[in-house]
Amino acid sequence: MYYGNCLCGTIKFTITGKINDIVYCHCSQCRKAQGSAFATNANVKKESFTFISGENNLTAYKYSAQQTKYFCKTCGSPIMSKNINHPENIRIRLGTIETDIQERPAAHIYTASKANWETINDSLPKYDEYKENC
Ligand SMILES: [Zn+2]
Ligand SMILES: [Zn+2]
Repeated sequence: MYYGNCLCGTIKFTITGKINDIVYCHCSQCRKAQGSAFATNANVKKESFTFISGENNLTAYKYSAQQTKYFCKTCGSPIMSKNINHPENIRIRLGTIETDIQERPAAHIYTASKANWETINDSLPKYDEYKENC
């Protein structure tokens, strides 16, 4: 069981089961959404994600016809995104999880659009663009 919350603590949630497909995403969209060099994203099964509190403090940004991003309207913490092509999954932002995570990142994706000031120094696989299940 994993526990997560936003910066201000209004939104609290748990995840039961595994955290899947952890990736560092370097696309320009994730960089802007996080204000950083990359986002660390992962899939969890919809039925394993439960809000403890604060669900009504989420606000949404519909980024594309497929994808909507959800964040805390008080503190701005990015919590998750949903994609209509993958309704079985919730794509979480791993930095909001408090519990030690057992699973490990599998890859870097969208490295072709990474920030020019970022150097990737680990030996994980790097993919120029999207990689299914990454
Ligand atoms: Zn918050
Ligand atoms: Zn991205």
